[in-house]
Amino acid sequence: MSSKISRRAVVQGGLIAGAFIPVLGLVANSATAAALPPLDINDPTAKALGFVTDTTKVDAAANPTHKPNQKCGTCAQYQGKPGDASGGCNIFVGHSVPQGGWCKTWAPKPA
Ligand code: SF4
Repeated sequence: MSSKISRRAVVQGGLIAGAFIPVLGLVANSATAAALPPLDINDPTAKALGFVTDTTKVDAAANPTHKPNQKCGTCAQYQGKPGDASGGCNIFVGHSVPQGGWCKTWAPKPA
């Protein structure tokens, strides 16, 4: 009898812990993204990839395939959530990029 109670307690404890772990992960990710330093446009990799903080300022002559709707917020590499002013980027690890920024590696977020 006591082993059933003990087993139940263990299962309930595991379910509760399992429910909170993803929540804690989201909080940690938000805190991490907010703490990331903004990408410097003078960073050598950023320059090589034509990074700009405002997609409307992209040099059209140098980037003829650029479209106005291409921006970090719609990029597959962007880690921010909708509505975030900035977020992490898989290309520029350790930095945040503005949701309205752009670089040559832009690719659409999967639908
Ligand atoms: S890879 Fe995407 S999210 Fe990162 S800087 Fe370039 S356009 Fe922005």
